[in-house]
Amino acid sequence: MTDREPSVFSRIVAREIPADIVYETDRVIAFRDIAPKAPLHLLIVPKTEEYANVAELAAGDPVLLAEVVATAQKLADEHADGHYRLIFNTGERAGQTIFHVHAHVLAGGLTEGSFA
Ligand code: 5GP
Repeated sequence: MTDREPSVFSRIVAREIPADIVYETDRVIAFRDIAPKAPLHLLIVPKTEEYANVAELAAGDPVLLAEVVATAQKLADEHADGHYRLIFNTGERAGQTIFHVHAHVLAGGLTEGSFA
């Protein structure tokens, strides 16, 4: 048990708030970002909120991190041309706003040097 409120992403997993879900397994969910920064902007989220960021996920469950990366490739193949950026904002001053680890998949219309 945790005394923290469920994250926004856990509430999407629980279907408590709507999202445009494009892929789901028993361990990960992927949906469109509500404020897209590129023609394709997906978020891939481990369903567990045990890990706040990618470093914690890598240390705690590297197989789950590999599933996130494989999902990014699969979805970029299906929704774009297989070329994409995979971004994990880590820490408030790097722009992280939700402390439930998630990968941004950005594709299409990217210019050199642009970031999410
Ligand atoms: P961060 O800044 O933590 O790396 O990324 C959080 C992302 O979640 C942002 O790009 C933001 O637009 C997205 N986001 C925040 N709330 C929601 C929501 O309720 N639904 C969806 N689909 N995306 C959200």
